[in-house]
Amino acid sequence: MQVARLPRDPGPAAWNRLLPEPEPPVPLEGKQTADWLVIGAGFAGLAAAHRLSKLSPGDRIMVLDAVRVGDGPAGRNSGFMIDLPHDLTSDDYGGALQTDLAQTEDNRRGIAHAAEMATEFGLSEEAFTMSGKINGAATAKGDARNKAFAGHLSAMGEPSEMFDAAQMRKITGTQYYQSGLFTPGSAMIQPAMFVRGVAVGLRSNRLTIHENSPVTALERQGDWVATTPKGQVTAPRVILAVNGHLNSFGYLPGRLMHVFTYASMTRVLTAKESACLGGQAVWGLTPADPMGTTVRRISGTGGDRIIIRNRFTFDPTMEVDATRIDDVARDHDTAFAARFPMLPHVTMEHRWGGRLCLSRNGVQVIGELDEGLYSACCQNGLGTAKGTLAGGLAAELAIGQSSPALKRALGAADPSRLPPVPIAKLGAALHLRWNEWRAGREL
Ligand SMILES: Cc1cc2nc3c(=O)[nH]c(=O)nc-3n(C[C@H](O)[C@H](O)[C@H](O)COP(=O)(O)OP(=O)(O)OC[C@H]3O[C@@H](n4cnc5c(N)ncnc54)[C@H](O)[C@@H]3O)c2cc1C
Repeated sequence: MQVARLPRDPGPAAWNRLLPEPEPPVPLEGKQTADWLVIGAGFAGLAAAHRLSKLSPGDRIMVLDAVRVGDGPAGRNSGFMIDLPHDLTSDDYGGALQTDLAQTEDNRRGIAHAAEMATEFGLSEEAFTMSGKINGAATAKGDARNKAFAGHLSAMGEPSEMFDAAQMRKITGTQYYQSGLFTPGSAMIQPAMFVRGVAVGLRSNRLTIHENSPVTALERQGDWVATTPKGQVTAPRVILAVNGHLNSFGYLPGRLMHVFTYASMTRVLTAKESACLGGQAVWGLTPADPMGTTVRRISGTGGDRIIIRNRFTFDPTMEVDATRIDDVARDHDTAFAARFPMLPHVTMEHRWGGRLCLSRNGVQVIGELDEGLYSACCQNGLGTAKGTLAGGLAAELAIGQSSPALKRALGAADPSRLPPVPIAKLGAALHLRWNEWRAGREL
C-alpha cells in the first residue's frame, strides 16, 4: 500500500527550538530487518517502543518517523497531560458518568506510563511534573461551567478546588480570571523536552530510532515491508502510531476528523516585564470553555515566556497553508493583549499549528488492523495521555498480554462514519466558528 500523504507541520515546533540542537538525524538506509517496527515517534510510538522493550527484551525494535523527534505534533502541544475527561466537543469537558470514570482510569494509566519513563530516563521536572492543572474562567458563564464540571467530578468521586479571582491573580499576575478549578491529577510537560528525553533513553536501551524517514509504502510480503526514501525494513509485526495519518495508510477512511489547533510563544520576558506581571513564574490554564484559550507561563530552558493556544480548524486534507497561521495570529494577539495589558511591548517570537485526530464518537483506534499490524491512533485531542495509553496497549496486545484497559479498548465501537467531506467541512466550520464566538472572553 502506498502511503497517500506524508505529514506537514505548519510553522516551527517552538518548544523544540528552545532546546539545544540534537545530534544529527540518522535516516534509515539500505535493507534492514527488525522483530518490531513502530511507525511514528510521538507519544504513542515512543510508549509502544518502550513497552515492547520491557515485554520482549532482546528483540530488535525499530522506530521510524518522518520528522525529527519533537518536531511533530508531540512537540507542538500545550503540554497538559490530563487525567480527567477532556471532551473538546462538550460544554465543560464532562460526559456520561460511567464513560468518564473509565476514561479517567485509562488516562491515568497513560500518565503512569509517562511517569515511569520520566523516572527511568532521569527527565527533569521541567520535562515532566505531576503538578495538577487549573481550568481558568474569565466570564460568569465560564465560572458556571467550572462549577458544573466540579459537580460532575464530585459525582465521579474526584477531588477539585475552586480558586476565586484573588487567588487566580496571585497565581497568574493578571486580573483576567474570575475563578479557577484546580484538579490535582494532571502532569505538565515541556513536550519537546519530554519526547526527546524519552527517545534518548530508549536509544540507550539499544532501540533504534530513525528520524527524517517517512514511510512511503507498507506492504505485506509474508512479513511487513516498510519503504522509506533511502531504505526498507522488513518486520513480522508493525505498530502504526501515526494518529490521523492512519488514513494515509488506507485505514478508517471517512471516519477520522482531522483538526488543527494553533499556538504562539512570546519572546523572552525581561526581568522587569516578569516583575511587572507578577504572579508565579510557572503556571498553566486550560480554558473553562473547551473552545477558549489555553495559556502557559514558563520559566527554564529558553527563558521566561508566555504561550497562547486557541482556535480549531477542520482540515480533512491534514494540511494548512501559511496564511492560516497569519489568520489565527490575530486571535492569539487579541487573547494575549486582553490577559496581559501590563505587557504591551511583548511580541510573539514563534507561531505554529499542529494536527489533532478526533472521532465523532470519541473512541480511539487501538487494535489489530491486519495480521501483525496494530494501531495506536486517534487520541481525540489528548494525545499526551491517550497516545501514551494507546502505545502501551497496542504493544501489550501485540505481545499477547491482557488487561481491563486493553479489553475496554478492544471492546470500543468503531469510529462513527463522517458525512461526505464538503458537508462535514461546512458543518464543522460553522460549528467551530459559532462555538468560538460563543466562548466570548474565554477565547
Ligand atoms: C497547539 C497544540 C496544542 C495541544 N495541546 C495539547 C495538550 O495540552 N494536551 C494533549 O494531550 N494534547 C494536546 N495536543 C494534541 C497532541 O499534540 C496530540 O494529540 C498528540 O501529539 C498525538 O500523539 P500521537 O503520538 O498519537 O501522534 P503524533 O504526536 O502526531 O505522532 C505521530 C508521528 O507519526 C509521524 N508520521 C506520520 N506519518 C508518517 C509516515 N508516513 N512515516 C513516518 N512517520 C510518520 C509523524 O511525523 C508524527 O511524529 C495539542 C496539539 C497542538 C497542535
